[in-house]
Amino acid sequence: MTDPQENRTELEEFGEFGLIQHLTKPIKLHHKESIKGVGDDAAVIDTGKELTLVSTDMLTEGVHFDLMYVPLKHLGYKAVAVNLSDIYAMNGTPKQITVSIAVSNRFSVEALEELYSGMLKACEAYQVDLIGGDTTSSLSGLTISVTAMGTVSKEKVTYRNGAKENELVCVSGDLGAAYVGLQLLEREKQIFSDNSLVQPDLEGKDYVLERQLKPEARIQAVKVLDDVDIQPTAMIDVSDGLASELIHITSQSGKGVQIYEDKIPIDPATIMAAEELGLDPTMAALNGGEDYELLFTIKPDDYDKIKDIEGLHVIGHITDANAGCHLVTKAGTLVSLKAQGWNAFGERNEG
Ligand code: ADP
Ligand code: MG
Repeated sequence: MTDPQENRTELEEFGEFGLIQHLTKPIKLHHKESIKGVGDDAAVIDTGKELTLVSTDMLTEGVHFDLMYVPLKHLGYKAVAVNLSDIYAMNGTPKQITVSIAVSNRFSVEALEELYSGMLKACEAYQVDLIGGDTTSSLSGLTISVTAMGTVSKEKVTYRNGAKENELVCVSGDLGAAYVGLQLLEREKQIFSDNSLVQPDLEGKDYVLERQLKPEARIQAVKVLDDVDIQPTAMIDVSDGLASELIHITSQSGKGVQIYEDKIPIDPATIMAAEELGLDPTMAALNGGEDYELLFTIKPDDYDKIKDIEGLHVIGHITDANAGCHLVTKAGTLVSLKAQGWNAFGERNEG
């Protein structure tokens, strides 16, 4: 046996995306029904008339959430909503979830009831059925893993790799709020741990806090696109920040992209809170995470159908791969986009 120390590669050398790629490269699919394996927001299985979508996400205490400021009920809601987001990102309808938890004896039955009340609230809101899971003990802390299943017709399924040159890049809602909300909670936690007599100053910050603590999946955006008869050509949900998701779409589609800073939708409440924290709102939108908006591309001919729809914004266009991935700043300069999504193994440990 080789000395494990000699052959040791640190996880951070790969980063999250590199590690997934490295580990999953040898996978061979055995069934023709497994249409899409690793690499999109959800796996796609041909189950006859329709396609079945499957997606899993795991949340770990201390990495993805801090129970100092996250109420368990909200955490339960969020754990479900973020999984459903991946099903919507395939243009699908979520139908069922399973929930697995690993829990230490630090938690009481009442605490877990709170967690489940949040999960069931999300199941009600999105009309999905909780159909099973697993429960196990953990030496420290809480881990929650949710698997979401859904369906989509063969005509409507939308992958990350379908973007074509000159198509329009669109995003739902607004970006950056969840990241600014997180920074605000972190700041207040720091102040509180320095002096527990100081009350948190969260006045007027409801919007960014809600976006961080109780994110919603964008069911409405998917419905609206269907209503106006737009079939997106590529789609992904914004879990790691706009820059990272644009790079997923363009690299998988073999294209480039140009987006415009002044077109990126950012809520005034986010701008205000960001400025107070000394953060650049555009950076929060590009490199923050957890917005769970939908980022998608549409054919140029569909512009008229989308241009007046509230809550959907055109932020740029797809280019040739050689043109690279760029942001045109408000000052008119061209900045190269970098995938600065969370590096789960590096310093920015939010997962
Ligand atoms: P998302 O942000 O949409 O949840 P991820 O970046 O987590 O997507 O995952 C990207 C792809 O890699 C998905 O297809 C996912 O199923 C797959 N994946 C992630 N981790 C693993 C793993 N440990 N083993 C196999 N596939 C994985
Ligand atoms: Mg996703």
